[in-house]
Amino acid sequence: MCLQTKSAQVRRTLLHLALLAGVLICPAVLAYGADAAHVAIKVDQVGYPLNGPKVALVSSPATSFELRRAGDNAVVFHGKLTSAQDDKDSGDQVQAADFSAFHQAGRYYLSIPGVGRSWDFNVGANVYQRAYYMAMRGFYGQRCGTAVDMGPEFPGYIHPACHLHGEFGASSGATGERDNVGGWHDAGDYGRYVVNSGITTGTLLWAWEIYGAKIKSISLKIPESGNGTPDILSEARWNLQWMLKMQDTDGGAWHKQTSDHFSGFVDPEKDTLISEVIGTGSAPYKSTCSTADLAAVSAIAARVYKPYDAKFAAQALAAARRAWAWTEKNPNVVFRNPAGVSTGEYGDSNCSDERLWAAAELSRTTGEAQFNEYFLKNYAQFLPDLDSPPAEIWAKVAPMGLWSYALSKRKDVDTKAVATIRERTVAAARAVVERTKADPYHVSLKTRDYVWGSNGVAADYGKYLLVANLFQPEPAFVDAARDNLHYLLGRNTFSLSFVTRVGENPFLHPHHRPSASHPDAPWPGLLSGGPNAGRADAVLAALPRGLPPARVYADQQASYASNEIAINWQASLVFLLAGVQ
Ligand SMILES: [Zn+2]
Repeated sequence: MCLQTKSAQVRRTLLHLALLAGVLICPAVLAYGADAAHVAIKVDQVGYPLNGPKVALVSSPATSFELRRAGDNAVVFHGKLTSAQDDKDSGDQVQAADFSAFHQAGRYYLSIPGVGRSWDFNVGANVYQRAYYMAMRGFYGQRCGTAVDMGPEFPGYIHPACHLHGEFGASSGATGERDNVGGWHDAGDYGRYVVNSGITTGTLLWAWEIYGAKIKSISLKIPESGNGTPDILSEARWNLQWMLKMQDTDGGAWHKQTSDHFSGFVDPEKDTLISEVIGTGSAPYKSTCSTADLAAVSAIAARVYKPYDAKFAAQALAAARRAWAWTEKNPNVVFRNPAGVSTGEYGDSNCSDERLWAAAELSRTTGEAQFNEYFLKNYAQFLPDLDSPPAEIWAKVAPMGLWSYALSKRKDVDTKAVATIRERTVAAARAVVERTKADPYHVSLKTRDYVWGSNGVAADYGKYLLVANLFQPEPAFVDAARDNLHYLLGRNTFSLSFVTRVGENPFLHPHHRPSASHPDAPWPGLLSGGPNAGRADAVLAALPRGLPPARVYADQQASYASNEIAINWQASLVFLLAGVQ
């Protein structure tokens, strides 16, 4: 059974009794006083743009809805619900409340006769501005090697400088101290991984390159704010500088810097395990995927930082060139965790897609023939990656390479290659739009997409659709991208915002070490991994058999397979938020 009640106080008492009795509690009910009505009416808890589609979803039988102003409860719009659709991924019967025809800015809620009221949300211009700010501040909170203070908005969310001492691990081919201070903690742990940093930092730099005009005026209130460089670039640089430190003198990049095993659930400055530079364990010690990712990201950096810091841009380009040269000599040195190391592996058996991405970015930045030739010789084998979005995860970055090539304004690009990349992306995006429209939850996720990090997959669908919109502007692409954002911000079976401290009913218990000392209000702005039908942890394994995939989620710290945060998902969320502003 699933315990639901309307009073938060009664709910807490029942919750306690139920836990004693071993009764199953719906995960969403564990959030802030969520009652049955709130759970049954699903809205984007941040809100809806003034002029775009505005749809809420209802999973309890009803016929009509009212849109009411939060301040005085006045009915400002009303309508009929659509007929119910069976959603096999959640087991819900879903009806839609469409108030797209309403265009007045303000704060509202939905009232459904016979069901109740929804969470409050906004309708307005720039409605996602604060969510973007929160998601980017999430990166700031992950900074390693410096004191972090989330400021007066979130008093007490601070930590002193952490992980200031580093050493070469035995697998790195070097010995002694190595203080590669900086970077972002990767996820719920304190490791730093060049491969996952690659797709993350690359995605943020792209967000700037593509949507800079829309986000440049949003202050992130970071220590660098006001220094003349856009804040998103300052935040990305914090990690980029660490990535550059991971490059050896021969041009190769070590794979990661972590302790040899995960620390306990302690605050970052209390993690006293040695932070080690970890390599492959045998010559050449660096790995091709990490080195090629470094080349790609540094090549983007050489473009985007040039107007703000030409010296840093030149340094990044030199690093990209040296990294590329290393991959020419070592085209597929793969990484596996060496003996005695149990932190995240980010293993990838094929680094040719990372090399394609590096070649595309270097070609776009420099215009030099060698990179263009490499790209044209190799790109065709990766075109199928575009056909089944979201083709981009940390291990499969060929779409970044293909898209970067197609977005390049250089005169020497091969027009046939560009046309093919654009056409295949647009065709796949149109299929995603159709599927999203037909899905009862209006989300692009397929049944088999409820994997580890499914919320990142939803965000990546959004990213894919927004890139397609660059090639062939179609409002349906942006609408479907926004549909995936709506899912992440509360329009899902749990009526839960999957971003901490965003919306009235956000998830509360991320698998995130710094949040462990704030049990009822985690660090802000962080995206949960989301439902994971693979049930890869003990919490999920204990959920009832036969649970539909979209419900295999637990808002519990111990559920690392459904409730961890990670910088790569976070970056896709930022891209999505920047794109639909
Ligand atoms: Zn740290």
